[in-house]
Amino acid sequence: NRQIHLASRPTGEPTADNFKLVETPVPDLADGQVLVRNHYLSLDPYMRGRMSESKSYADPQPLNQVMIGGTVGEVVASKNSHFAVGDKVVGMGGWQEFQVVDGQQRGVLQKVDTTHVPLSAYLGAVGMPGVTGWYGLVKIINPKAGETVVVSAASGAVGGAVGQLAKVRGARAVGLAGGAEKCRYVVEELGFDACIDYKQHKDVKSLAAALKAECPNGIDGYFENVGGMILDAVMLRANAFSRIAMCGMIAGYNGEPIPMTAPQLILVNRMKVEGFIVSEHMDVWPEALKELGTLVATGKLKYRETVAQGLDSAPEAFLGLLKGRNFGKQLVKLI
Ligand code: NDP
Repeated sequence: NRQIHLASRPTGEPTADNFKLVETPVPDLADGQVLVRNHYLSLDPYMRGRMSESKSYADPQPLNQVMIGGTVGEVVASKNSHFAVGDKVVGMGGWQEFQVVDGQQRGVLQKVDTTHVPLSAYLGAVGMPGVTGWYGLVKIINPKAGETVVVSAASGAVGGAVGQLAKVRGARAVGLAGGAEKCRYVVEELGFDACIDYKQHKDVKSLAAALKAECPNGIDGYFENVGGMILDAVMLRANAFSRIAMCGMIAGYNGEPIPMTAPQLILVNRMKVEGFIVSEHMDVWPEALKELGTLVATGKLKYRETVAQGLDSAPEAFLGLLKGRNFGKQLVKLI
């Protein structure tokens, strides 16, 4: 069983040297256990936080152990009556080819139906990132028809879902993404009303002017994935009683400071700003997954994947995700 372990903790930007490849035998199954062959690994921005020792909302990833992460795969051996060989499953298998799951922890492995939804989508639009987008949009921003919702990292796994769910609710969806190609995709494929290439704007004033052009009635909801200049520009265009779902601040994940220049606007505009962690809201997952699964199965919710090939490619693909080299959900395909 080939695995990737965290070998050392990065200071600032992580490098491939922070990871190491380890080979261990696949253990024999005890009663109640299931052996899963992982088909895809999910690479997610939160993993950067876990590589550091500093306390965050998630515990640090232990050194010299398999990198934690979401996986989808197939049951290849089972000593558990709830799982049969051939079952397709989603779980937290980590960066390794095989995983052994204990019967006692049955909740951590879920069977999934791949009749209408591809297996990999359970790591993206019909998985944790999709539910993240759903929670922030539906439970925090809660847009009314005709309102304007802005989302950063709009071509990504979370952001792409947010804009499309906003459109389903009759809102105007405006994305921000890095580069013309990503922006074209966000509008033409995902059906957002507009998308701004933030890399074309060197300062807050210029970006706020672009937002003014695309959001003529101001901004009622902002789904925050990035932080920094984008947040500052959005604040300048935010309407009274607007809502911000604080989902991520990837611009600061390597330790960069992310100051907020005009927090007084929260008061002036009587805004609601709410942070959330999707795994703390398991109660909404069934409702969210039902909507997301139906929209994906009927072709009404689109998504894109960037697929790195083979376990060895996981570290580089992860470093790329933190630099925006991914275009849509970043996965690693194992078989
Ligand atoms: P994405 O698929 O959106 O990939 C990350 C994207 O972030 C990149 O493609 C890049 O897009 C953008 N990016 C990277 N670095 C920067 C930077 N310095 N400045 C601006 N943009 C940058 O990832 P996800 O959809 O998986 O995650 C999106 C956000 O949601 C992250 O912040 C993540 O931490 C957060 N999240 C939060 C959860 C929660 O429970 N609160 C759960 C899941 C995710 P571009 O090229 O357009 O800049």
